[in-house]
Amino acid sequence: MMIFMIGVITGVGIQLISLSIVNFFVTKFSENQPKKQQNNNLNFTESEGYLSIKLEKEISEGQRIQPELQKLLLLQKATLESATDAILIVDSLDKIVGFNKKFLEMWDIPELIITSGNYKQALRTAIKKLDNPRHYLSILRELHENPDIHIGENILFKDGRIFNPFYQQQYKYKENIGQVWIFRDITAENLASNTINYQSLHDILTNLPNRLLLKKLLIDALTKVSHNHSLGVCFLDLDRFKKINDSLGHSIGDKLLQMVAQCIKKSLRSDDIVARWGGDEFIILLPEISEMYDIDLIQERIFAAFKQGFKIDNYHLNISPSIGIALYPQHGEDGETLIKNAEAALSRVKLQGRNSYKVYQAAINSQATELFSLENSLYNALERQEFKVYYQPQVNSSTGEITKMEALLRWQHPELGLIPPATFIPIAEETGLILPISEWVLKTACLQNKAWQQTLNLSSLSVAVNFSGRQFQQPNLVGIVEQVLCETKLAHRYLELEITETVAMQDVELTQKILRQLDEIGVTISIDDFGTGYSSLSYLKDFSIHALKIDQSFVQDLANKDNQTAITTAIISLAHGLNLSVVAEGVETQEQLNALRILQCEIMQGYFFSHPLSAEEATRMLTAYQPHRLKNSYLVA
Ligand code: C2E
Ligand code: CA
Ligand code: CA
Repeated sequence: MMIFMIGVITGVGIQLISLSIVNFFVTKFSENQPKKQQNNNLNFTESEGYLSIKLEKEISEGQRIQPELQKLLLLQKATLESATDAILIVDSLDKIVGFNKKFLEMWDIPELIITSGNYKQALRTAIKKLDNPRHYLSILRELHENPDIHIGENILFKDGRIFNPFYQQQYKYKENIGQVWIFRDITAENLASNTINYQSLHDILTNLPNRLLLKKLLIDALTKVSHNHSLGVCFLDLDRFKKINDSLGHSIGDKLLQMVAQCIKKSLRSDDIVARWGGDEFIILLPEISEMYDIDLIQERIFAAFKQGFKIDNYHLNISPSIGIALYPQHGEDGETLIKNAEAALSRVKLQGRNSYKVYQAAINSQATELFSLENSLYNALERQEFKVYYQPQVNSSTGEITKMEALLRWQHPELGLIPPATFIPIAEETGLILPISEWVLKTACLQNKAWQQTLNLSSLSVAVNFSGRQFQQPNLVGIVEQVLCETKLAHRYLELEITETVAMQDVELTQKILRQLDEIGVTISIDDFGTGYSSLSYLKDFSIHALKIDQSFVQDLANKDNQTAITTAIISLAHGLNLSVVAEGVETQEQLNALRILQCEIMQGYFFSHPLSAEEATRMLTAYQPHRLKNSYLVA
């Protein structure tokens, strides 16, 4: 058979392609993709079999072969054309002696060049289409010098396509008689495998490297840290992301994570890497840190970028990060230790009120478990009477009258000291401990207010108690409030419950129902941190509420920034328009007080008047309190 085929190629010329050659190569090509080299030295003479001997005999019989040969050639041509790979056959004189349509199609070389048999011209045209023509020219040169070498490399095109080539030199009795090229377009296949590869190493939502890739990159980066340099591992966690996810839904939450990913990326240098560690946690690798100043600079950039907020659909979301940082080699020699210590530093940030960054200190390690143990000790805190309610007055700045005391919870931890509510309330929410804790706060605050009313002759003094999401949604909330009021004998109208917009918007129908019931029993409701939530204003008229508390962020810059004044003015007129009272929180300076009074906001709360005080201190303050004296000091300067 093989002898026959060679006769066909060399003797008959350009269109005579052997069916057997094609079959042989197509089979070899697909069989041997991964181990192409193995059969490269197979040539026709070595593969003689029964059929070839028979055909050789037939050739020698002269005329009789012609019709048979023609039939065979037609079949061979048809087979060649039906191949899904591009095939090109070149003889030993560098003349193209065979090709199929697929070849023309895939290589897009003018048919005239190919049919003219000019292999060199075809090569010149082909090579221009490749990504790196020089490289392929050098391969061809090598091939020319050593025709039996194996070409293992895929061919990359400028337009992004990828061909997998198969090449074999053909011999007849050790004489080179030509070469066969087969090309397979593997662009789609390659794309699919690249996609799979990419997806296994990247987070689908944010497109950032995932945990697996981060670990690899970290190992890699550690080997490259140059002398006199450090590598920083930053563990970033979003503060109260759950709140946004719960109140606005996962699709907004997801979009926020995508934007956060971009925001972090933009704050970094080109060689820095950010990866998604999971949930709302990200890890940032800072490979070249020469001094602490670098760390501070990058962190400041990240925090500044977050401060801009995130615009998603119709929402403007504000979210802050907390970041723990560990440095190589000071805080760990390997990736695992560095990540662990960065997370320990992060725990410390969370414990101290979030929205900040901290570099690991050896002492932190022992405190790293604090957050876990916090959860455990929170279970016993109520029983061990470690909670305290502090009180902060709300003052009518015109009359100087203290109208209300806001109850603010504190946890006096036996080892860690005073823990702010921002640290432990989210844990209490997650564990459900918030329910017994808040019932205790409610009872304590009502009892205290009743005591002040009676003993200090402050009969119209009210108390405000904060309610979180889970509390607000507990079944029989109104029943519990009524029972506490009954037990403490505080008249209903002296209790105010503060809920945030986010809490109110969690389940609008439920909120409407509960607020109506609370209104019916005479308890008042205020919307806390007003202006920072993500709700539409239209609900305000549908909810039975009595007051808006302007968030301290607006009050803080009141005297300095025009836009803050505009928002505060709008909130105040909105409240007045809806016949709601309005309280400004976080008033710290005389300037803020003056500005608020000009804007006709009279009820104020903040350090300017008093910090939150323990029950004993508050009692002393209320005892000494003389409305007329306060009044004078609050006059507009
Ligand atoms: P909030 O209800 O907005 O309470 C006001 C926070 O601002 C308090 O922080 C208070 O100490 C602080 N503050 C008051 N005046 C000023 C000021 O002039 N300047 C500044 N910078 N801050 C001022 P605190 O006590 O740490 O409470 C934080 C948050 O924890 C509260 O924010 C409230 O959302 C929550 N919280 C406190 N107690 C309870 C509670 O018993 N139950 C629930 N569910 N949440 C509570
Ligand atoms: Ca409050
Ligand atoms: Ca507030």
